[in-house]
Amino acid sequence: RPLAMSLEAETKSFVSKFEYSDEDVNKAVKEFLRQMGEGLEKDGTSLSQIPTYVTAVPNGTEKGLYMAVDLGGTNFRVCSIQLNGDTTFNLTYTKVAIPKDLMVAKTAKELFAFLAKQVELFLVTHHGDHFERHVRRRLTVSSPDGFKDENVFRLGFTFSFPVQQVGINKGTLIRWTKGFDIPDAVGKDVCALLQTEIDKLHLPVKVAALVNDTVGTLMARSYTSPGKTGAVLGAIFGTGTNGAYVEKLSNLKKPLTGEYDNSTGDMVINTEWGSFDNQLNVLPNTSWDIELDKTSVNPGIQMYEKRVSGMFLGEILRLAILDLLKNPKVAFFKDENSSSNDWKSTTHIAPNSSIYEQWGIDTAIMSVAAADNTPELSILRQELESTLNVYSPAHDDAQAFKAIAGAVARRAARLAAVAIAAIVLQTGKLTDPESKDEPIDIGVDGSLVEHYPYFRDMITETLRVIDGVGEEGAKRIRIGVAKDGSGVGAALIALVAAGME
Ligand code: ADP
Repeated sequence: RPLAMSLEAETKSFVSKFEYSDEDVNKAVKEFLRQMGEGLEKDGTSLSQIPTYVTAVPNGTEKGLYMAVDLGGTNFRVCSIQLNGDTTFNLTYTKVAIPKDLMVAKTAKELFAFLAKQVELFLVTHHGDHFERHVRRRLTVSSPDGFKDENVFRLGFTFSFPVQQVGINKGTLIRWTKGFDIPDAVGKDVCALLQTEIDKLHLPVKVAALVNDTVGTLMARSYTSPGKTGAVLGAIFGTGTNGAYVEKLSNLKKPLTGEYDNSTGDMVINTEWGSFDNQLNVLPNTSWDIELDKTSVNPGIQMYEKRVSGMFLGEILRLAILDLLKNPKVAFFKDENSSSNDWKSTTHIAPNSSIYEQWGIDTAIMSVAAADNTPELSILRQELESTLNVYSPAHDDAQAFKAIAGAVARRAARLAAVAIAAIVLQTGKLTDPESKDEPIDIGVDGSLVEHYPYFRDMITETLRVIDGVGEEGAKRIRIGVAKDGSGVGAALIALVAAGME
Protein backbone atom coordinates (compact mmCIF):
# COMPACT_ATOMS: atom_id res chain seq x y z
CA ARG A 1 0.00 0.00 0.00
CA PRO A 2 2.00 2.99 -1.21
CA LEU A 3 -0.40 5.46 0.40
CA ALA A 4 -0.18 3.68 3.74
CA MET A 5 3.54 4.33 3.62
CA SER A 6 2.81 7.94 3.19
CA LEU A 7 0.50 7.89 6.23
CA GLU A 8 3.41 6.62 8.30
CA ALA A 9 5.72 9.30 6.97
CA GLU A 10 3.13 12.05 7.41
CA THR A 11 2.39 10.91 10.96
CA LYS A 12 6.08 11.10 11.78
CA SER A 13 6.24 14.62 10.42
CA PHE A 14 3.18 15.67 12.50
CA VAL A 15 4.67 14.08 15.60
CA SER A 16 7.96 15.88 15.08
CA LYS A 17 6.19 19.25 15.08
CA PHE A 18 5.21 18.61 18.71
CA GLU A 19 8.74 17.81 19.82
CA TYR A 20 9.95 20.13 22.54
CA SER A 21 13.67 19.62 22.96
CA ASP A 22 15.66 19.50 26.17
CA GLU A 23 17.26 22.75 25.12
CA ASP A 24 13.84 24.42 24.64
CA VAL A 25 12.73 23.10 28.03
CA ASN A 26 15.76 24.62 29.72
CA LYS A 27 15.26 27.95 28.00
CA ALA A 28 11.63 27.97 29.14
CA VAL A 29 12.56 27.23 32.78
CA LYS A 30 14.84 30.30 32.82
CA GLU A 31 12.10 32.44 31.33
CA PHE A 32 9.57 31.07 33.84
CA LEU A 33 11.88 32.06 36.69
CA ARG A 34 12.30 35.52 35.19
CA GLN A 35 8.53 36.00 34.80
CA MET A 36 7.96 34.74 38.36
CA GLY A 37 10.39 37.36 39.67
CA GLU A 38 8.71 40.08 37.65
CA GLY A 39 5.30 39.10 39.04
CA LEU A 40 6.59 39.32 42.62
CA GLU A 41 7.64 42.91 41.99
CA LYS A 42 4.73 44.52 40.25
CA ASP A 43 1.17 44.12 38.99
CA GLY A 44 0.16 43.67 35.39
CA THR A 45 2.87 41.18 34.43
CA SER A 46 2.53 37.84 32.63
CA LEU A 47 2.44 35.76 35.84
CA SER A 48 0.11 37.55 38.24
CA GLN A 49 1.76 36.04 41.38
CA ILE A 50 -1.23 36.82 43.60
CA PRO A 51 -0.58 36.84 47.37
CA THR A 52 -3.17 34.59 49.06
CA TYR A 53 -2.62 35.72 52.69
CA VAL A 54 -2.06 32.08 53.62
CA THR A 55 1.29 32.02 55.42
CA ALA A 56 1.76 28.40 56.45
CA VAL A 57 0.96 24.91 55.22
CA PRO A 58 -0.38 22.19 57.55
CA ASN A 59 1.67 19.30 58.93
CA GLY A 60 -1.02 16.65 59.35
CA THR A 61 -1.73 17.19 63.04
CA GLU A 62 -4.55 19.69 62.50
CA LYS A 63 -7.88 18.74 64.07
CA GLY A 64 -11.47 19.84 63.98
CA LEU A 65 -14.72 19.94 62.07
CA TYR A 66 -14.91 22.43 59.23
CA MET A 67 -17.14 23.20 56.27
CA ALA A 68 -16.24 23.89 52.70
CA VAL A 69 -18.19 25.01 49.66
CA ASP A 70 -17.00 25.07 46.07
CA LEU A 71 -18.43 27.20 43.30
CA GLY A 72 -16.46 26.65 40.15
CA GLY A 73 -18.61 25.75 37.20
CA THR A 74 -21.66 23.64 36.71
CA ASN A 75 -22.01 22.39 40.27
CA PHE A 76 -22.04 23.75 43.78
CA ARG A 77 -20.49 21.42 46.32
CA VAL A 78 -21.07 21.60 50.06
CA CYS A 79 -19.08 19.47 52.45
CA SER A 80 -17.97 19.06 56.02
CA ILE A 81 -14.56 17.71 56.88
CA GLN A 82 -13.50 16.12 60.11
CA LEU A 83 -9.72 16.49 60.36
CA ASN A 84 -8.52 13.70 62.61
CA GLY A 85 -5.09 15.14 63.33
CA ASP A 86 -3.22 12.10 62.07
CA THR A 87 -3.11 13.00 58.33
CA THR A 88 -6.52 11.40 57.82
CA PHE A 89 -9.93 12.98 57.43
CA ASN A 90 -13.60 12.10 56.97
CA LEU A 91 -15.52 13.94 54.34
CA THR A 92 -19.28 14.25 53.92
CA TYR A 93 -20.45 15.97 50.78
CA THR A 94 -23.32 16.90 48.54
CA LYS A 95 -23.37 18.36 45.09
CA VAL A 96 -26.13 20.29 43.37
CA ALA A 97 -26.33 21.61 39.82
CA ILE A 98 -26.60 25.37 39.62
CA PRO A 99 -29.83 26.36 37.90
CA LYS A 100 -28.97 27.98 34.58
CA ASP A 101 -31.13 31.03 35.25
CA LEU A 102 -29.17 31.78 38.41
CA MET A 103 -25.89 31.86 36.47
CA VAL A 104 -27.26 34.90 34.67
CA ALA A 105 -29.46 36.25 37.47
CA LYS A 106 -30.24 39.96 37.67
CA THR A 107 -28.72 40.35 41.10
CA ALA A 108 -25.93 38.63 42.99
CA LYS A 109 -28.38 38.13 45.85
CA GLU A 110 -30.40 35.58 43.89
CA LEU A 111 -27.38 33.31 43.31
CA PHE A 112 -25.92 33.69 46.80
CA ALA A 113 -29.29 33.14 48.49
CA PHE A 114 -29.49 29.84 46.60
CA LEU A 115 -25.99 28.90 47.79
CA ALA A 116 -26.83 29.75 51.40
CA LYS A 117 -29.97 27.64 51.14
CA GLN A 118 -27.81 24.66 50.09
CA VAL A 119 -25.62 25.22 53.14
CA GLU A 120 -28.73 25.12 55.32
CA LEU A 121 -30.01 21.93 53.67
CA PHE A 122 -26.62 20.31 54.16
CA LEU A 123 -26.57 21.22 57.85
CA VAL A 124 -30.07 19.90 58.41
CA THR A 125 -29.32 16.65 56.57
CA HIS A 126 -25.82 15.87 57.79
CA HIS A 127 -25.40 17.80 61.01
CA GLY A 128 -28.96 17.74 62.22
CA ASP A 129 -27.88 17.38 65.79
CA HIS A 130 -25.65 20.42 65.70
CA PHE A 131 -28.33 22.25 63.78
CA GLU A 132 -31.07 21.40 66.27
CA ARG A 133 -29.03 22.40 69.28
CA HIS A 134 -27.68 25.65 68.00
CA VAL A 135 -30.09 26.90 65.42
CA ARG A 136 -33.53 25.90 66.63
CA ARG A 137 -32.69 26.85 70.21
CA ARG A 138 -31.47 30.21 69.09
CA LEU A 139 -34.67 30.77 67.16
CA THR A 140 -36.94 29.79 70.05
CA VAL A 141 -35.00 31.27 72.93
CA SER A 142 -33.94 34.05 70.58
CA SER A 143 -30.62 34.89 72.13
CA PRO A 144 -29.92 38.34 70.82
CA ASP A 145 -26.15 37.96 70.83
CA GLY A 146 -26.07 35.11 68.35
CA PHE A 147 -24.21 31.84 68.59
CA LYS A 148 -21.49 30.89 70.97
CA ASP A 149 -18.28 31.12 69.03
CA GLU A 150 -17.32 27.48 69.55
CA ASN A 151 -20.59 26.40 67.95
CA VAL A 152 -19.96 28.29 64.73
CA PHE A 153 -18.72 26.29 61.75
CA ARG A 154 -15.76 27.90 59.99
CA LEU A 155 -16.25 27.58 56.24
CA GLY A 156 -13.71 27.71 53.41
CA PHE A 157 -15.15 29.11 50.19
CA THR A 158 -13.49 27.79 47.03
CA PHE A 159 -14.42 30.24 44.33
CA SER A 160 -12.80 29.47 40.98
CA PHE A 161 -13.28 32.75 39.18
CA PRO A 162 -10.80 35.61 38.92
CA VAL A 163 -10.79 37.57 42.19
CA GLN A 164 -8.64 40.31 43.58
CA GLN A 165 -7.89 38.84 46.98
CA VAL A 166 -7.38 41.46 49.68
CA GLY A 167 -7.44 39.30 52.79
CA ILE A 168 -7.81 35.70 53.85
CA ASN A 169 -11.62 35.94 53.68
CA LYS A 170 -12.06 38.89 51.42
CA GLY A 171 -11.84 39.24 47.66
CA THR A 172 -13.63 41.14 44.94
CA LEU A 173 -14.85 39.53 41.76
CA ILE A 174 -12.93 40.79 38.75
CA ARG A 175 -15.10 39.12 36.10
CA TRP A 176 -17.25 36.05 35.59
CA THR A 177 -16.17 33.19 33.31
CA LYS A 178 -17.51 29.75 32.36
CA GLY A 179 -21.02 30.87 31.43
CA PHE A 180 -21.80 32.98 34.51
CA ASP A 181 -22.88 36.56 33.96
CA ILE A 182 -24.25 38.58 36.86
CA PRO A 183 -22.86 42.09 36.36
CA ASP A 184 -24.23 43.19 39.74
CA ALA A 185 -21.66 40.94 41.51
CA VAL A 186 -18.57 42.26 39.74
CA GLY A 187 -16.45 44.38 42.06
CA LYS A 188 -18.16 43.02 45.18
CA ASP A 189 -16.62 40.93 47.96
CA VAL A 190 -17.86 37.41 47.26
CA CYS A 191 -17.33 36.27 50.86
CA ALA A 192 -19.51 39.09 52.15
CA LEU A 193 -22.19 38.26 49.57
CA LEU A 194 -22.32 34.68 50.86
CA GLN A 195 -22.12 35.64 54.54
CA THR A 196 -25.04 38.07 54.20
CA GLU A 197 -27.30 35.35 52.83
CA ILE A 198 -26.11 32.81 55.42
CA ASP A 199 -26.91 35.32 58.18
CA LYS A 200 -30.41 35.86 56.81
CA LEU A 201 -31.02 32.15 57.42
CA HIS A 202 -29.55 32.41 60.95
CA LEU A 203 -27.03 29.64 60.33
CA PRO A 204 -24.08 29.07 62.68
CA VAL A 205 -21.60 29.44 59.84
CA LYS A 206 -18.80 31.91 59.30
CA VAL A 207 -17.17 32.32 55.89
CA ALA A 208 -13.62 32.20 57.20
CA ALA A 209 -11.54 31.85 54.05
CA LEU A 210 -11.62 32.55 50.35
CA VAL A 211 -9.80 29.74 48.60
CA ASN A 212 -8.26 29.24 45.19
CA ASP A 213 -8.33 25.57 44.15
CA THR A 214 -4.54 25.45 43.69
CA VAL A 215 -3.98 26.63 47.26
CA GLY A 216 -6.47 24.02 48.44
CA THR A 217 -4.47 21.35 46.63
CA LEU A 218 -1.23 22.54 48.23
CA MET A 219 -2.82 22.47 51.69
CA ALA A 220 -4.48 19.09 51.20
CA ARG A 221 -1.24 17.50 50.04
CA SER A 222 0.67 19.00 52.99
CA TYR A 223 -1.88 17.60 55.44
CA THR A 224 -2.09 14.08 54.03
CA SER A 225 1.57 13.59 53.15
CA PRO A 226 3.55 15.62 55.64
CA GLY A 227 7.30 15.88 55.32
CA LYS A 228 9.48 18.03 57.50
CA THR A 229 8.28 21.14 55.73
CA GLY A 230 5.04 20.22 53.93
CA ALA A 231 4.39 20.46 50.21
CA VAL A 232 5.97 23.28 48.22
CA LEU A 233 3.54 23.39 45.32
CA GLY A 234 -0.09 22.63 44.55
CA ALA A 235 -0.92 22.33 40.86
CA ILE A 236 -4.04 21.74 38.79
CA PHE A 237 -4.03 19.99 35.43
CA GLY A 238 -7.73 19.74 34.69
CA THR A 239 -9.94 21.94 32.51
CA GLY A 240 -7.34 24.63 33.09
CA THR A 241 -3.93 24.66 34.70
CA ASN A 242 -2.51 26.73 37.54
CA GLY A 243 -0.21 26.44 40.53
CA ALA A 244 0.31 27.91 44.00
CA TYR A 245 3.56 27.65 45.94
CA VAL A 246 5.21 28.71 49.19
CA GLU A 247 7.32 31.86 48.69
CA LYS A 248 9.53 33.75 51.12
CA LEU A 249 7.84 36.97 52.17
CA SER A 250 11.14 38.79 51.65
CA ASN A 251 10.96 37.98 47.93
CA LEU A 252 7.52 39.56 47.63
CA LYS A 253 8.10 43.18 46.68
CA LYS A 254 4.51 44.14 45.83
CA PRO A 255 2.60 45.96 48.59
CA LEU A 256 0.20 43.80 50.63
CA THR A 257 -3.09 45.45 51.48
CA GLY A 258 -4.67 42.87 53.78
CA GLU A 259 -3.71 41.56 57.19
CA TYR A 260 -1.67 38.41 57.64
CA ASP A 261 0.39 36.52 60.17
CA ASN A 262 4.04 37.19 59.26
CA SER A 263 5.60 34.93 61.89
CA THR A 264 6.45 32.19 59.38
CA GLY A 265 8.22 34.48 56.94
CA ASP A 266 6.38 32.73 54.10
CA MET A 267 3.34 33.36 51.96
CA VAL A 268 1.51 31.13 49.52
CA ILE A 269 1.46 32.71 46.07
CA ASN A 270 -1.12 31.89 43.40
CA THR A 271 0.97 32.13 40.23
CA GLU A 272 -1.89 32.14 37.67
CA TRP A 273 0.64 30.39 35.45
CA GLY A 274 -1.93 29.72 32.72
CA SER A 275 -0.77 33.04 31.28
CA PHE A 276 2.94 32.21 31.40
CA ASP A 277 4.68 33.66 28.36
CA ASN A 278 1.68 35.18 26.63
CA GLN A 279 4.39 36.97 24.60
CA LEU A 280 5.51 33.58 23.17
CA ASN A 281 9.20 34.13 23.97
CA VAL A 282 9.74 30.44 24.67
CA LEU A 283 6.47 28.54 24.19
CA PRO A 284 6.19 26.23 21.19
CA ASN A 285 3.85 27.49 18.50
CA THR A 286 2.67 25.16 15.76
CA SER A 287 0.18 26.21 13.10
CA TRP A 288 -2.45 24.34 15.17
CA ASP A 289 -1.62 26.32 18.30
CA ILE A 290 -2.00 29.49 16.27
CA GLU A 291 -5.35 28.40 14.86
CA LEU A 292 -6.66 27.31 18.27
CA ASP A 293 -5.75 30.66 19.78
CA LYS A 294 -7.22 32.68 16.92
CA THR A 295 -10.60 30.98 17.20
CA SER A 296 -10.70 31.04 21.02
CA VAL A 297 -12.73 33.55 23.05
CA ASN A 298 -9.52 35.08 24.47
CA PRO A 299 -6.85 35.30 21.75
CA GLY A 300 -3.35 36.08 23.00
CA ILE A 301 -4.25 35.19 26.59
CA GLN A 302 -3.61 32.02 28.65
CA MET A 303 -1.04 30.85 26.09
CA TYR A 304 0.60 28.30 28.42
CA GLU A 305 -2.78 26.91 29.47
CA LYS A 306 -3.71 26.53 25.78
CA ARG A 307 -0.80 24.11 25.33
CA VAL A 308 -1.10 22.22 28.60
CA SER A 309 -4.62 21.77 29.97
CA GLY A 310 -7.49 19.36 29.37
CA MET A 311 -9.75 21.93 27.77
CA PHE A 312 -7.29 22.47 24.91
CA LEU A 313 -5.30 19.29 24.19
CA GLY A 314 -8.19 17.59 22.43
CA GLU A 315 -8.70 20.66 20.26
CA ILE A 316 -5.01 20.83 19.25
CA LEU A 317 -5.26 17.17 18.31
CA ARG A 318 -8.48 17.78 16.36
CA LEU A 319 -6.93 20.58 14.30
CA ALA A 320 -3.91 18.42 13.45
CA ILE A 321 -6.13 15.45 12.58
CA LEU A 322 -8.25 17.63 10.28
CA ASP A 323 -5.13 18.70 8.40
CA LEU A 324 -4.18 15.10 7.86
CA LEU A 325 -7.73 14.25 6.76
CA LYS A 326 -7.71 17.07 4.22
CA ASN A 327 -4.57 15.73 2.55
CA PRO A 328 -5.82 13.79 -0.52
CA LYS A 329 -2.52 11.94 -0.82
CA VAL A 330 -2.75 10.30 2.56
CA ALA A 331 -4.96 7.31 3.29
CA PHE A 332 -6.06 8.41 6.75
CA PHE A 333 -9.60 7.38 7.71
CA LYS A 334 -10.32 7.08 4.00
CA ASP A 335 -9.89 4.84 0.97
CA GLU A 336 -6.60 4.90 -0.80
CA ASN A 337 -7.72 6.36 -4.08
CA SER A 338 -10.45 8.66 -3.00
CA SER A 339 -10.32 12.16 -4.31
CA SER A 340 -13.12 14.65 -4.43
CA ASN A 341 -13.60 18.38 -4.16
CA ASP A 342 -15.43 17.79 -0.93
CA TRP A 343 -12.73 16.22 1.25
CA LYS A 344 -15.18 15.36 4.03
CA SER A 345 -17.11 13.03 1.75
CA THR A 346 -13.95 11.01 1.08
CA THR A 347 -13.50 10.06 4.73
CA HIS A 348 -14.92 7.16 6.71
CA ILE A 349 -16.30 9.57 9.26
CA ALA A 350 -19.98 10.45 9.61
CA PRO A 351 -20.72 13.99 8.39
CA ASN A 352 -22.25 14.79 11.77
CA SER A 353 -19.14 13.69 13.67
CA SER A 354 -18.02 16.17 16.31
CA ILE A 355 -14.54 15.87 14.80
CA TYR A 356 -15.69 18.61 12.40
CA GLU A 357 -16.76 20.95 15.20
CA GLN A 358 -14.67 23.22 17.40
CA TRP A 359 -13.92 21.45 20.75
CA GLY A 360 -15.23 18.25 19.12
CA ILE A 361 -12.53 15.96 20.54
CA ASP A 362 -12.54 15.52 24.30
CA THR A 363 -9.06 15.13 25.79
CA ALA A 364 -10.33 11.98 27.50
CA ILE A 365 -9.93 10.01 24.24
CA MET A 366 -6.20 10.78 24.33
CA SER A 367 -6.01 8.82 27.57
CA VAL A 368 -7.80 5.93 25.90
CA ALA A 369 -5.32 6.06 23.01
CA ALA A 370 -2.32 6.12 25.32
CA ALA A 371 -3.62 3.31 27.49
CA ASP A 372 -4.47 0.97 24.61
CA ASN A 373 -1.53 -1.40 24.18
CA THR A 374 -3.50 -4.18 22.53
CA PRO A 375 -1.82 -5.38 19.34
CA GLU A 376 -4.77 -4.36 17.17
CA LEU A 377 -5.61 -1.19 19.13
CA SER A 378 -9.11 -2.58 19.42
CA ILE A 379 -10.07 -0.43 22.42
CA LEU A 380 -9.12 2.81 20.72
CA ARG A 381 -10.81 1.74 17.48
CA GLN A 382 -14.01 1.07 19.37
CA GLU A 383 -13.75 4.46 21.06
CA LEU A 384 -13.19 6.22 17.72
CA GLU A 385 -16.30 4.52 16.45
CA SER A 386 -18.48 5.30 19.44
CA THR A 387 -17.39 8.85 20.30
CA LEU A 388 -16.31 10.25 16.91
CA ASN A 389 -18.55 8.29 14.53
CA VAL A 390 -15.69 6.84 12.53
CA TYR A 391 -16.90 3.85 10.48
CA SER A 392 -14.78 0.75 11.18
CA PRO A 393 -11.47 2.52 11.78
CA ALA A 394 -8.48 0.56 10.48
CA HIS A 395 -5.49 -0.36 12.57
CA ASP A 396 -3.23 2.05 10.63
CA ASP A 397 -5.64 4.92 11.23
CA ALA A 398 -5.83 4.23 14.93
CA GLN A 399 -2.04 3.98 15.07
CA ALA A 400 -1.63 7.39 13.44
CA PHE A 401 -4.26 8.88 15.76
CA LYS A 402 -2.50 7.41 18.78
CA ALA A 403 0.90 8.69 17.70
CA ILE A 404 -0.26 12.27 17.16
CA ALA A 405 -2.33 12.31 20.37
CA GLY A 406 0.68 10.96 22.25
CA ALA A 407 2.86 13.74 20.86
CA VAL A 408 0.41 16.47 21.92
CA ALA A 409 0.20 15.03 25.45
CA ARG A 410 3.94 14.51 25.74
CA ARG A 411 4.58 18.13 24.84
CA ALA A 412 2.03 19.15 27.50
CA ALA A 413 3.78 17.05 30.14
CA ARG A 414 7.16 18.54 29.20
CA LEU A 415 5.67 22.02 29.50
CA ALA A 416 4.18 21.06 32.86
CA ALA A 417 7.70 20.09 33.96
CA VAL A 418 8.88 23.59 33.05
CA ALA A 419 6.56 25.21 35.61
CA ILE A 420 7.25 22.58 38.26
CA ALA A 421 11.04 22.79 37.86
CA ALA A 422 11.05 26.59 37.92
CA ILE A 423 9.08 26.65 41.16
CA VAL A 424 11.24 23.98 42.80
CA LEU A 425 14.35 25.96 41.79
CA GLN A 426 12.76 29.18 43.10
CA THR A 427 12.25 27.63 46.53
CA GLY A 428 15.98 26.86 46.77
CA LYS A 429 15.24 23.48 48.36
CA LEU A 430 17.51 21.55 45.98
CA THR A 431 20.62 23.36 47.20
CA ASP A 432 19.60 24.09 50.80
CA PRO A 433 21.86 22.00 53.06
CA GLU A 434 19.08 21.90 55.68
CA SER A 435 16.73 19.98 53.42
CA LYS A 436 19.43 17.79 51.88
CA ASP A 437 18.05 14.46 50.60
CA GLU A 438 14.56 15.38 51.87
CA PRO A 439 11.73 14.69 49.44
CA ILE A 440 10.27 17.77 47.79
CA ASP A 441 6.55 17.25 47.81
CA ILE A 442 4.13 18.45 45.15
CA GLY A 443 0.35 18.00 45.23
CA VAL A 444 -1.52 17.75 41.95
CA ASP A 445 -5.17 17.50 41.00
CA GLY A 446 -7.25 17.41 37.81
CA SER A 447 -8.44 14.80 35.34
CA LEU A 448 -5.48 15.15 32.99
CA VAL A 449 -2.81 14.35 35.55
CA GLU A 450 -5.03 11.80 37.26
CA HIS A 451 -6.15 9.86 34.21
CA TYR A 452 -3.64 10.36 31.39
CA PRO A 453 -1.35 7.31 31.57
CA TYR A 454 2.23 8.14 32.58
CA PHE A 455 1.63 11.90 32.63
CA ARG A 456 3.55 12.16 35.90
CA ASP A 457 6.29 9.88 34.59
CA MET A 458 6.73 12.09 31.54
CA ILE A 459 7.04 15.08 33.87
CA THR A 460 9.69 13.31 35.96
CA GLU A 461 11.60 12.23 32.87
CA THR A 462 11.72 15.87 31.76
CA LEU A 463 12.79 17.11 35.20
CA ARG A 464 15.92 14.97 34.88
CA VAL A 465 17.24 17.00 31.94
CA ILE A 466 16.66 20.38 33.55
CA ASP A 467 19.76 22.33 34.64
CA GLY A 468 19.87 22.63 38.40
CA VAL A 469 17.50 19.67 38.88
CA GLY A 470 19.12 16.71 37.14
CA GLU A 471 18.86 13.04 38.04
CA GLU A 472 19.39 13.61 41.73
CA GLY A 473 16.91 16.46 41.98
CA ALA A 474 14.27 14.65 39.93
CA LYS A 475 14.53 11.71 42.33
CA ARG A 476 13.69 13.96 45.26
CA ILE A 477 10.67 15.61 43.64
CA ARG A 478 7.63 13.61 44.67
CA ILE A 479 4.43 14.35 42.75
CA GLY A 480 1.27 13.00 44.35
CA VAL A 481 -2.43 13.38 43.63
CA ALA A 482 -4.25 15.33 46.35
CA LYS A 483 -7.57 13.48 46.57
CA ASP A 484 -10.58 15.64 47.50
CA GLY A 485 -8.14 18.53 47.43
CA SER A 486 -10.65 21.30 47.13
CA GLY A 487 -12.75 20.22 50.14
CA VAL A 488 -9.95 19.32 52.53
CA GLY A 489 -7.78 22.21 51.38
CA ALA A 490 -10.57 24.73 51.93
CA ALA A 491 -11.19 23.29 55.40
CA LEU A 492 -7.51 23.64 56.25
CA ILE A 493 -7.44 27.25 55.12
CA ALA A 494 -10.56 27.92 57.19
CA LEU A 495 -8.63 26.44 60.11
CA VAL A 496 -5.64 28.73 59.48
CA ALA A 497 -8.00 31.69 59.17
CA ALA A 498 -9.80 30.80 62.40
CA GLY A 499 -6.43 30.88 64.14
CA MET A 500 -5.91 34.44 62.96
CA GLU A 501 -9.27 35.78 64.22
P1 ADP B 1 -12.06 20.79 36.55
O1 ADP B 1 -10.65 21.15 36.20
O2 ADP B 1 -13.07 21.56 35.76
O3 ADP B 1 -12.32 20.80 38.02
P2 ADP B 1 -11.39 18.07 35.78
O4 ADP B 1 -10.19 18.02 36.65
O5 ADP B 1 -12.27 16.85 35.75
O6 ADP B 1 -12.34 19.27 36.12
O7 ADP B 1 -10.90 18.36 34.31
C1 ADP B 1 -11.77 18.32 33.23
C2 ADP B 1 -10.92 18.31 31.97
O8 ADP B 1 -10.17 17.11 31.90
C3 ADP B 1 -11.71 18.41 30.70
O9 ADP B 1 -11.05 19.34 29.85
C4 ADP B 1 -11.63 17.03 30.08
O10 ADP B 1 -11.53 17.10 28.68
C5 ADP B 1 -10.37 16.47 30.66
N1 ADP B 1 -10.50 15.03 30.93
C6 ADP B 1 -11.56 14.38 31.46
N2 ADP B 1 -11.31 13.06 31.55
C7 ADP B 1 -10.06 12.88 31.09
C8 ADP B 1 -9.21 11.74 30.91
N3 ADP B 1 -9.64 10.51 31.23
N4 ADP B 1 -7.98 11.95 30.42
C9 ADP B 1 -7.55 13.17 30.08
N5 ADP B 1 -8.29 14.28 30.20
C10 ADP B 1 -9.53 14.14 30.70
